[in-house]
Amino acid sequence: MLGYWKYLENSDPEIYGLIQREEHRQQSMLEMIASENHASPAVLVAAGSCLTNKYAEGLPGRRYYGGCEHVDDVETLAINRCKKLFGCDHANVQPHSGTQANMAVYFSQLKPGDTVLAMDLAHGGHLSHGFRLNFSGNLYNFVSYGVKRDTETIDYDQIATLAKEHKPKLIVCGASAYPRTIDFEKIAEIAKENGAKVLADIAHIAGLVCTGFHMDPIPCCEFVTSTTHKTLRGPRAGTVMCKAEYAKSINSAVFPGMQGGPLCHVIAAKAVAFAEALRPDFKTYAKQIITNCQVLADELTSKGFRLCSGGTDNHLVLVDLRQYNAELTGAMAETLLHDAGIVVNKNLIPYDTRSAQETSGVRIGTPALTTRGLKEEHIKQIANWIDKVLSSGGDEKIISNVRNETAELCRQFPIPG
Ligand SMILES: *Cc1c(COP(=O)(O)O)cnc(C)c1O
Repeated sequence: MLGYWKYLENSDPEIYGLIQREEHRQQSMLEMIASENHASPAVLVAAGSCLTNKYAEGLPGRRYYGGCEHVDDVETLAINRCKKLFGCDHANVQPHSGTQANMAVYFSQLKPGDTVLAMDLAHGGHLSHGFRLNFSGNLYNFVSYGVKRDTETIDYDQIATLAKEHKPKLIVCGASAYPRTIDFEKIAEIAKENGAKVLADIAHIAGLVCTGFHMDPIPCCEFVTSTTHKTLRGPRAGTVMCKAEYAKSINSAVFPGMQGGPLCHVIAAKAVAFAEALRPDFKTYAKQIITNCQVLADELTSKGFRLCSGGTDNHLVLVDLRQYNAELTGAMAETLLHDAGIVVNKNLIPYDTRSAQETSGVRIGTPALTTRGLKEEHIKQIANWIDKVLSSGGDEKIISNVRNETAELCRQFPIPG
């Protein structure tokens, strides 16, 4: 592989240089974007392999191209490992992303105009759950549910009421900015009572689900989709799982329904990531993500930050900045923290009165830091720095001092590989 890098450096120094700079950025900053992680060198090598050259439309053993004998074996391994990891009847590992995985379920189950119930984007949902500018919101009649104003937890009574009223074909659950456990069983029950099927989108929490640290949707939901690059720590991609009876319709929705040739190199990298997640040390990793996040929640709370829903059960916290400083927007906090070497993203909080560009919140996650090997004591230190930076009023001296300290911590805990 080192040889490959030499090739790139010689043939395209511009791109080579930019990749080097990005690698340095990742090495030298504390990555706390809840949807990001550091994939292993094994995943990166597979994703950068010669498998990118291969066309393999179709499924293993039933391709529309010759020369598929090895990529057939790769995809079969990926499918079997995915099934073993999640304990599902059927898996299709071809979706290029989490959004594509959701598209596969929609295409297999819905006709344009059909009604779907899903979580409001402004309450922590995802673009592909019916946002009006996304294909999902364009093609289907999405009705959204949200969180309760007082507890900021999912309003299951509202889901039941809306399901009764609108009789959706599909109920989508799963979120991008929700710090609490999602009760898949309760949602499946509501769906059953109203003749709907359930899609559980575990894009964020897949690494917690497969290790037993979050309620498992596989037994109670017809469809489960995920990204493979968030807590699962694989390549940037998606996967879709379903009960055996839907296998055929999911497969044909993926190809030829919505994609052409699969990305064989990325499927190989998914296979590598699934195998990594099947190892006992991945369970230790997932547990530490949650422990770290709990420490983060406690420390931030003790410094006067209000956390949406009062805390966390998973890998992220959603901080409502208004109590800490009514003038401080999510966008300002994101910039200040970035200057200090801590990468987070601004995020709407439920019932936010600010725009999605400004926001009153930031979303902070622990998956990537946990991959670097950071433990409770480091998270405490980081919470201190977050407080220091956000109370600095933009003081350059304070921020650059913290920047030096975050850089030093990064040097002590390099990204594995
Ligand atoms: C991240 C995410 C996705 C999909 O992400 P892609 O960027 O399309 O891979 C889907 N659903 C949820 C809930 C997510 O958080």
